[in-house]
Amino acid sequence: MSATRVLVLNSGSSSVKYQLLDMRDSSRLAVGLVERIGEEGSRLRHTPQGGGPREWTGPIADHDAALKAVAEELSKDGLGLDSPELAAIGHRVVHGGKTFTEPTVIDEAVLAEIERLIPVAPLHNPANLTGIRTARALRPDLPQVAVFDTAFHTTMPESAARYAIDVETADAHRIRRYGFHGTSHAYVSRATAELLGKSPEEVNVIVLHLGNGASASAVRGGRCVDTSMGLTPLEGLVMGTRSGDMDPAVIFHLMRVGKMSTDEIDTLLNKKSGLIGLCGDNDMREIRRRVDEGDEQAKLAFDIYIHRLKKYIGAYYAVLGRVDAIAFTAGVGENAASVREAAVAGLQSLGLAVDDALNAVRSDEPRLISPADARVAVAVVPTDEELEIATQTYALVEESN
Ligand code: ADP
Repeated sequence: MSATRVLVLNSGSSSVKYQLLDMRDSSRLAVGLVERIGEEGSRLRHTPQGGGPREWTGPIADHDAALKAVAEELSKDGLGLDSPELAAIGHRVVHGGKTFTEPTVIDEAVLAEIERLIPVAPLHNPANLTGIRTARALRPDLPQVAVFDTAFHTTMPESAARYAIDVETADAHRIRRYGFHGTSHAYVSRATAELLGKSPEEVNVIVLHLGNGASASAVRGGRCVDTSMGLTPLEGLVMGTRSGDMDPAVIFHLMRVGKMSTDEIDTLLNKKSGLIGLCGDNDMREIRRRVDEGDEQAKLAFDIYIHRLKKYIGAYYAVLGRVDAIAFTAGVGENAASVREAAVAGLQSLGLAVDDALNAVRSDEPRLISPADARVAVAVVPTDEELEIATQTYALVEESN
């Protein structure tokens, strides 16, 4: 029997998330998470298919130790990394710059290029690289594939990808709009077309990925033509802890008048802004609970979040000219009916509306929430970045066999 399993690894600076999938039916054989790597209280949580979670707490000094612990847990379920049924390892890599437009089999040259991109992704690419190097050391013979968060957005035209700043300066520092969450936008835009019974080439979709990080994208005929995140994941929508769009002069003002350092401003805008900066909470459930209790601060945070979201729906409507569907996804998009309702409220003249009963339904399945006669479909489409990484990885490995 040929190898049909793919291990998906998402390596952060102090964590590794993993899933082992069987590509014959896309089932999860095991899922897990190693947290607090190199810190006090490291722990591993491993859940095999059909079984309960197993937790392990103890020192895990680095990514090497983390992956070895994962391999050991997988072995206990007969799913070890040495299994001949393992076809490949797929790695989530945050930044692929302009270079990587597709999933790519990793070799030394690819590693060097991911390393060269560290200046534009200082928080993410080093951790992704560590994960890749560790996995390669464990199974040097196995194909390992990098799937980039930026890849789906490399089809953006220059008019959307460039900032209106001096071209030479921009190019010298590789400053342009790269976009992120691309794996999710790719998966959800395709799944939305499927939900409409059409091929991706036939439809124009606005995807709203609303998690703790949030981004919107305009997808024309299966290709991304604009997205809200930019050089870094700070641009665009109001997020859990990030400001999103802002006059860049706010930064000069904070430096000159507020006497804040670059690092302090970085922390302010990435970690202490967005919903948490506005009302002290970044979980939409908590914010809605407070709004329902009449909390003014939470209400203002919610209104600012929705106002920005609406602006992007309008902008991408104009960019696309014709919109067939708007798809909500990720933690907030999939679960918060109130956000979906508020985001399209008042946009009937654009053909946008939600059916209250359909919008209130809770489900893990892709579904339409617009009225039957709506001009534009409004959909809830649960994202599955791990499945998309595994699918892309497996397709590439099959192709080269
Ligand atoms: P990320 O992957 O960016 O960390 P997720 O896509 O998992 O984020 O989304 C997490 C967010 O989803 C939470 O912070 C919370 O705001 C929101 N969320 C999760 N469940 C619900 C729910 N039932 N209702 C409203 N919001 C929810």
